Amino acid sequence: MLVETFTVGMLSANCYVASCPDTKEAIVIDPGLDFPSEAQPIFEYIEEAQLKVKFIVDTHGHSDHVKGNAVFQEKYNVPICIHPLDAHFIEGTEKGKLPADVMINEGTFLQCGGETLKVIHTPGHTPGSICLVGEHLIFTGDTLFAGGIGRTDFPGGSMSDMAASLEKLTHLPDYLLMYPGHGETSMLGEEKRTNPFLNNKSETMLF
Ligand SMILES: [Zn+2]
Ligand SMILES: [Zn+2]
Repeated sequence: MLVETFTVGMLSANCYVASCPDTKEAIVIDPGLDFPSEAQPIFEYIEEAQLKVKFIVDTHGHSDHVKGNAVFQEKYNVPICIHPLDAHFIEGTEKGKLPADVMINEGTFLQCGGETLKVIHTPGHTPGSICLVGEHLIFTGDTLFAGGIGRTDFPGGSMSDMAASLEKLTHLPDYLLMYPGHGETSMLGEEKRTNPFLNNKSETMLF
């Protein structure tokens, strides 16, 4: 799977375009644009690489990850996928808000050409936070960052859910290349060894 990273919005969220090199099918993950114009370089990349966008996937419902849903849906006319527990974030009458088209949950498989991404439910940062796991990579949204984890003090956040979600992630293979919702990429094995929230050395889950 080929991954291109675009850092978007005031909060510097990572929007990823993940594609199958053979079929050119692609998924847009977390289009959290503040302004529609921020989509331009992403549109250009997709056009130049001749990708066929199949889905928009929101790792959770926070606006820094979903604000560009409408811009991308308008351009590519593809479904917006989100966990049901976070769907309320993206629905509503405000301009730019659109209802979710596909509810994705623990165990849902998203097919992208020859590549498959499996959804794992990782609540804690929000009730409907998910990670997407491929053969060699993982998109962790705001659940796990290089050296840190997402905040759990927003409405719907839960430290105990976060602890259980992180525990779930420790059972995944070390070789997974990790693409978080903010900041640098990492290897899951590196995080297991050095991230204080994963190696049980932290005294508190707060971040
Ligand atoms: Zn968030
Ligand atoms: Zn975020």
